[in-house]
Amino acid sequence: MNLHEIDVVPDWFAARAALGTGRTGPTWSMIRPTLREAVKRREFYYEYQPIVSTSDCSLLGYEALVRWRHAGGTVLPADFIWIAEQTGTIADIQSCALSGMSEALVVTDPGLTFAINWSPSQLMRCEEIARFIELVHSLGIVPSRLTIEITEGSLLNLSAATLGNIGRLKQAGFAIALDDFGTGYCGLGYLKDLPVERLKIDQSFVRDMVASPKARTIVAAIVDLAHGLGISVVAEGVETVPQLEMLRAMQCDYVQGFLLGRPSAWISGVSTIAACHPPAESLQ
Ligand code: C2E
Ligand code: MG
Ligand code: MG
Repeated sequence: MNLHEIDVVPDWFAARAALGTGRTGPTWSMIRPTLREAVKRREFYYEYQPIVSTSDCSLLGYEALVRWRHAGGTVLPADFIWIAEQTGTIADIQSCALSGMSEALVVTDPGLTFAINWSPSQLMRCEEIARFIELVHSLGIVPSRLTIEITEGSLLNLSAATLGNIGRLKQAGFAIALDDFGTGYCGLGYLKDLPVERLKIDQSFVRDMVASPKARTIVAAIVDLAHGLGISVVAEGVETVPQLEMLRAMQCDYVQGFLLGRPSAWISGVSTIAACHPPAESLQ
């Protein structure tokens, strides 16, 4: 396949296969038309994963994770978000998924919050913030029900503009959470200035914490740091009962992971999560 042919590949899966050949090229030019068409066909939607309180197993709410309902199968964000960022379709994808979420919000307990992920590129642009606030308003979503998850990577070389934009989101009523905390290669100084409500401990630490005392020490330090700052903390990627019990003993406030529930297009409506109360024998 030559470059000209790659440029006109109409199908995302074919484009991905072409990339798999190791060819470097104008990857976005293959996929941009496909992503735009997919937005028009409203193929982006959220799956929801529960976030659960360790103290009483109640639901804090859900993290919304975007999916692409492609004719060839469901496409996960790792395979298209970076292209959407480069080609400027990320905001349209977010709008498409968010309009589906507004229906979910109507039928769920108003006390439940929904977390959505933001790309670093979105945070840099003031007009993007205004567009989002307007969109949320037009969908009838109450901002206090939404938490915006930003990664530490978004804060590398934190500019006054980005800081101002985060402040604008906060002022509009959204909560802010720092996602994948501990992996962003950032200093900690920005925590003084950022109006953050929650830290989310990266799943790499949670995965290793039972076997590795060092990972466990890092998790405990992040929990203490969050509490010292007067904010809450979520452990991501909780898959086993020993991890859950260890996090509970450390007084980590919330947990999220396959043990508590996988991302799903359907919200079950239950208010407490049974898997949070493991039978004693499973702790052996
Ligand atoms: P994230 O925000 O850190 O989301 C958590 C990811 O870990 C999700 O992958 C989720 O399915 C997965 N996960 C949850 N529990 C477990 C577990 O117990 N074990 C394991 N192994 N994995 C678990 P997903 O849905 O593929 O999303 C990957 C990343 O894509 C997200 O990481 C987030 O950074 C990004 N993303 C997702 N939705 C959006 C979106 O709407 N916009 C943007 N800009 N990025 C998004
Ligand atoms: Mg997230
Ligand atoms: Mg994360």
